[in-house]
Amino acid sequence: MRILENVLDYDYQGFRSKLEREKLEPYRATQIFDWIYKKKATSFAVMTNLSKKLRESLNRRFELKFPELVTRVESKDGTVKFLWKYADGSTVESVLLRYSDRISACISSQVGCVLKCKFCATGRSGFVRDLTSGEILAQILGMEKSENERIGNVVFMGMGEPMLNYDEMMRSIHVMVDPKALKISQRRISISTSGIVDGIERLANEPLDIVLSVSLHAPIDEKRVKIMPIDQKYPLAVLLESIKNYQAIKGKRVTFEYILFDEFNDSVEDAKKLIEILEGIKCNVNLIPYNETGMGFKRTPSEKARKFESFLKSHGIEAVMRIEKGSDIDAACGQLRRRTL
Ligand code: SAH
Ligand code: SF4
Repeated sequence: MRILENVLDYDYQGFRSKLEREKLEPYRATQIFDWIYKKKATSFAVMTNLSKKLRESLNRRFELKFPELVTRVESKDGTVKFLWKYADGSTVESVLLRYSDRISACISSQVGCVLKCKFCATGRSGFVRDLTSGEILAQILGMEKSENERIGNVVFMGMGEPMLNYDEMMRSIHVMVDPKALKISQRRISISTSGIVDGIERLANEPLDIVLSVSLHAPIDEKRVKIMPIDQKYPLAVLLESIKNYQAIKGKRVTFEYILFDEFNDSVEDAKKLIEILEGIKCNVNLIPYNETGMGFKRTPSEKARKFESFLKSHGIEAVMRIEKGSDIDAACGQLRRRTL
């Protein structure tokens, strides 16, 4: 039996070439993408401006594969959390966040994660597999369809390390920004990485204007390595050097994520060290309230967190405390946090 390929796994050029190889009219790719990404079609049958013969040929060769929606939980503040199940039984989460001026999607790039950060529920559950580009995109399409809204911002801050699934992540981004597909502005897409230097170097050479967000969480290796084993492979000096190179090529501000853990990385000494290592990097620092997941870490009390923020600000660092969203639906969620971009 022929294995049917998922159209969602193709970018526009790839799909056009595929139609050509299959001796199907390649220019139809525009209409098919329009149906999928703009009109949210989930089958070829509804694509009524294509001939019946073409729809039948498409059906014999391709699939339009979407995950099943297992759970949808809505918070009082409008944040919605989704749990998706793919055909092999793997599940991932996505979150839709509503702001006064935009709707943002927090999406997953892998089922689980190999990196095992000590505070992260995804890390604890281990690694299952990479998501394909189509499986990443299906989260956005699924949320748009469920809420009947258009998503304008995307952050790769769900499950997984996007830089360890680089090619599929990048293909999905090409479809997101393609005017023939989701048409999301490049600047409204962020990749969050735990600091995979190879990935940062590759990203620096992509002709894309997206946001790089780096999970720092500690200002010295002695502390960072205790919570993020990846620090052993890419210590801070190496990581910061790669970010400086990235900035020299891109000329763009980068974002640092810094979860405040009580009595671990939230002292004035930590703040001073952080200021020191960020010297020479144009950046924003996002201070994140820890979403406690029963892994032994505690959230920094809000007053102390404010002090940390003010200290950074008074030393010229653009620091912002994250506003938590969807805190009333947190209980079932170990990893995806609701917060502003
Ligand atoms: N693997 C990538 C992207 C997914 S995690 C990364 O680590 O950057 C996205 C962000 O959520 C990271 O900054 C991560 O450190 C943070 N995070 C993980 N668990 C969290 C929790 N329980 N509370 C708050 N932030 C968390
Ligand atoms: Fe993986 Fe990111 Fe979780 Fe670390 S924080 S285990 S890199 S998903």
